[in-house]
Amino acid sequence: MFHTVRLVDVYKAYDNGTKALKGVTLRIDDGEFVFLVGPSGSGKSTIIKLLTSEIRPSEGKVMVNGYNINTIKPGAVPMLRRTLGVIFQDFRLIEKKNVFENVAFAMRAVGASPRDIKARVPYVLDLVGLSHKARRRPHELSGGEQQRVAIARALINNPMVIIADEPTGNLDPARSLEIMTLLERINALGTTVLAVTHEKELVNRFAKRVIAIDGGRIVSDKQGGYYAHEQTRR
Ligand code: ADP
Repeated sequence: MFHTVRLVDVYKAYDNGTKALKGVTLRIDDGEFVFLVGPSGSGKSTIIKLLTSEIRPSEGKVMVNGYNINTIKPGAVPMLRRTLGVIFQDFRLIEKKNVFENVAFAMRAVGASPRDIKARVPYVLDLVGLSHKARRRPHELSGGEQQRVAIARALINNPMVIIADEPTGNLDPARSLEIMTLLERINALGTTVLAVTHEKELVNRFAKRVIAIDGGRIVSDKQGGYYAHEQTRR
């Protein structure tokens, strides 16, 4: 099977000496849905920054969608990032652009033709249930709707992996459940999903693989809910 993400004995020390990762080994295969959970400061963002090649490991090996993050050349980083769709807690939409344009922009950025944009944007807006709000601007939408626009944008160039960094951090429980359910559906359509979250109840609603990290080390990696991890902790 193709390994979408692979970390082998990864250590990361920041310039000030903080050891953020202390020997992390993990593998995510094509088509998986994985939750990455752990307390604040445990190293979750560091893992995401490695995957997007914002930082390099101090030791160990990181492979993402066939790219070697240890040796990737700056010129290849945009190509790596095209294989990833990233979603953030704060949505990061462009306020001056409407929904259609926010999504189309990401296609223009990679040189897609107007014809392809006209065909693809309505398809992904339909997928996230926002066809009827294509002409609205972000401030005219609820938080849940804004996050769905961000998901459409992340999907627009057909990435291999969606990385969702606390995607429900600004949403109420009902909206959070909708967003995770949408990510689950996108996963069922074939995209690998890595979702970082603090929300135990939410994680437990989905019988997915949960990787728990604490103090820069993986403390649990198993199928089926966060509390499975809680019970096995010392
Ligand atoms: P999480 O995302 O789980 O909250 P992080 O990966 O952001 O954790 O942080 C892991 C550790 O690395 C923490 O101790 C944090 O303070 C530290 N850290 C994160 N980014 C930097 C940085 N740029 N420079 C120094 N230390 C950092």
